[in-house]
Amino acid sequence: MGLLVKNGEIITADSRFRADIYAEGETITQIGADLTVPPDTVVIDAAGKLVFPGFIDPHVHVYLPFMATFAKDTHETASIAALIGGTTTYIEMCCPSRFDDALKGYYLWKSKAEGNSACDYSFHMSVTRFGEETESQLREIVDDGINSFKIFLSYKNFFGVEDGEMYETLLLAKKLGVIVTAHCENAELVSRLQAGLLSEGKIGPEWHEPSRPESVEAEGTGRFATFLGNTGATGYVVHLSCVPALRAAMAAKSAGTKLYIESVLPHFLLDKTYAERKGVEGMKHVMSPPLRDARNHDALWNALRCGFVDTVGTDHCPFDIEQKLLGSDAFTQIPNGIPGIEERVNLLYTYGVNRGKLDIHRFVDAASTQAAKIFGMFPRKGTIAVGSDADLVIYDPNYRGIVTVETQHTDNDYSGFEGMPIEGRPSIVTVRGTIQVRDGRFVGQKGIGRQLKREPIHF
Ligand SMILES: [Zn+2]
Repeated sequence: MGLLVKNGEIITADSRFRADIYAEGETITQIGADLTVPPDTVVIDAAGKLVFPGFIDPHVHVYLPFMATFAKDTHETASIAALIGGTTTYIEMCCPSRFDDALKGYYLWKSKAEGNSACDYSFHMSVTRFGEETESQLREIVDDGINSFKIFLSYKNFFGVEDGEMYETLLLAKKLGVIVTAHCENAELVSRLQAGLLSEGKIGPEWHEPSRPESVEAEGTGRFATFLGNTGATGYVVHLSCVPALRAAMAAKSAGTKLYIESVLPHFLLDKTYAERKGVEGMKHVMSPPLRDARNHDALWNALRCGFVDTVGTDHCPFDIEQKLLGSDAFTQIPNGIPGIEERVNLLYTYGVNRGKLDIHRFVDAASTQAAKIFGMFPRKGTIAVGSDADLVIYDPNYRGIVTVETQHTDNDYSGFEGMPIEGRPSIVTVRGTIQVRDGRFVGQKGIGRQLKREPIHF
């Protein structure tokens, strides 16, 4: 059965026009006026609505053993939350630790998602150790459709790699045409600063930010960029949070290093005073890199507007209140992370587009198209075109609501963005032609999401 979206205003990264869209099965087959369609076609009237390509979250955690516990969501809850918020594809971080076998880890992560996600997905494969077996294992994973790796310069002795391992990973990535995403903080400094603060009895969540200051992130970002420049590999800085790190990345970019920049939703909207709140309220807002001084907000919005920051993800990583309280006696034991997969599109639209900080095309670009291009999914994903998957977000710009834990779909007992008004939300969301969401409710089919095959493109 076909799907016809009529009377909407289509907005992509580079165009805005009125036309109808017809999808035959999973694929868009016609765009235009007065389309001829079969009689049994499902018709959606999008009058007064905006029609966006399905949004892509390039940085989420769903299955995650971390800091002696597990992140809360399953692929069912995370994908439903994503879809209700307009995200039709996500890339999950596959994160076996340094002590796990990478290939076994990959198949474990894959098995958790398979048949359980209501939207399409892929993985960034973490390289948390580089040994004899690594090259052959990573080749197998790339052959399975993964074209991005992830390295951590922080989380020493768990996820973190040494500089030598980073070098080996980048050389291999260059050979395989894979892009390397990186968490950029100086591991040695973080552990020294943490120990120093704890020894002075500074144990609360308000000390999380001082334990990983902006300079520590800038150092990691600069070092990653230097290694990229000297290996010719292509890189992607994840969750960049502050001006010094932005400067380091921009200096490398403008010198010709192949480097993309991602920032994540919390760093545009929240600041370190959230983590300075008393008790568990502060713990809810502990993530790494930490929430920063608010003076960084304007610079990040400007960098996003200009395209210096390429993408906006979430680093969605829900731990509930009970889990956060594991860090009651030491901020270093607070599981790092905040949910956001459901709120990203609406909050970026409201506080970016509606506040005049972000052109609507750059919004689509940063929240969908760039991720598709950088990670090898374009033009199947990230745009509205004949031949693209029929992942569509029919968006109601007149909706008014408030973000609250009471109505969220992610499996968690708090929202990181509690009480924030939103101006707009998806009215209908489709995944490859199937209607999955209507006005904030999941009405579709669970488990239809597929793992995307992403070809190596970064040679
Ligand atoms: Zn992450």
